[in-house]
Amino acid sequence: MPDFRIFCPMYGRLTNSITDNLTFLIETSMRRIALFIIILLLTVNLFPSVKASPEPDSFSVIQLSDTQYLSESSAYENLTGWIADHSAAYNLRMVIHTGDIVDTYNSVIQWEHASQAMMILQENNIPYCWCAGNHDSKGSYQEGAYVPLDNYTWLGSSYDAFNISVLSNKAYWVSSCNNGKSTAATFTFKAYHFLVISIEYLANETAIQWMKNLIESHSSDNIIVSTHSYLDTFGNTTGGWGTDGSRQDNTIWGSAGGVWETSLRNILMSYPSVFMILCGHMQADVDQNVNGKEEIMFGDNVNSVRIYTFNMTSKTVNSATYRLGLLVSEFSFPVKLSSFSNTAFQNIYLTLIAMAITVPIVAVIILMKKNLGTYSRKRILGS
Ligand SMILES: [Zn+2]
Repeated sequence: MPDFRIFCPMYGRLTNSITDNLTFLIETSMRRIALFIIILLLTVNLFPSVKASPEPDSFSVIQLSDTQYLSESSAYENLTGWIADHSAAYNLRMVIHTGDIVDTYNSVIQWEHASQAMMILQENNIPYCWCAGNHDSKGSYQEGAYVPLDNYTWLGSSYDAFNISVLSNKAYWVSSCNNGKSTAATFTFKAYHFLVISIEYLANETAIQWMKNLIESHSSDNIIVSTHSYLDTFGNTTGGWGTDGSRQDNTIWGSAGGVWETSLRNILMSYPSVFMILCGHMQADVDQNVNGKEEIMFGDNVNSVRIYTFNMTSKTVNSATYRLGLLVSEFSFPVKLSSFSNTAFQNIYLTLIAMAITVPIVAVIILMKKNLGTYSRKRILGS
């Protein structure tokens, strides 16, 4: 009778049969798999408590708009000074200026006032971005050209606070287009990543394509798009005042017939990651939800700041507008936001589970082959 006893590496002794040997191997491997999975699950369960931090569960984004008359004096600095003083209290993450920074595109004194005011944010390490409004570049308002404007003069880059060479060194800066008439910046709150894309008044195809590329390359972010002219006073994308029977000048302040604004809305509606669209330009407040996207016009914007406070527990945003420190309007709306690290963590978790299952199985197969080879050799040798 051939001797079927073979050496079992797991137990360091001779076993009586291949079946016994495999049983030992499988039992041992299964114990190790079970132990590994238990450790993994314990680790997973510990993560929520590790993630919980004393940091408040809310943060804010501030919108400024149509500061054109403030830029005529140093009064603009009162606004940004107030923001700097309150940034910690509001857990401020980003300031978005939706255009008409100055009233006259080539007024040196207005740009200087605007730059000095916005430098208060920069000096206090408060991230900000902006877009050019119709008053900020030559040709749009001043020359009565109401079609998408290519390369009209923009002098903002000559001033410190709007110098894209300087801002491109900031960690929050993403990129700009058309020499800084359109800008993009990013911020993070815990596991939530946000991208703000601010596109200039009646942006040309170059800027629209730049915006599309950013949205598509940041599809996992929660994206806010801001621009200057988007809604009319009734919330339609017809441009300007809209049509209420008395004022029908909707081709004067926006694009003719709202073609640009309507086109922008159609583009943005095809991107699920865009959850909020901000604009200024007209003197009316609008807040509406269109296909899951919150469209907001900050019309009560003279000498005012609008604070969007994101409550991440209730997933609601409270909008409060303050003028000279006094609350003048308020509204709230729900938001659906996606968390980056949850997805990343789930991927890591699933990968580890897959490894925990497959690695021991492969090890068992290798050992089986090895032991069967030993058994075959023994049979051939007749020992
Ligand atoms: Zn305007």
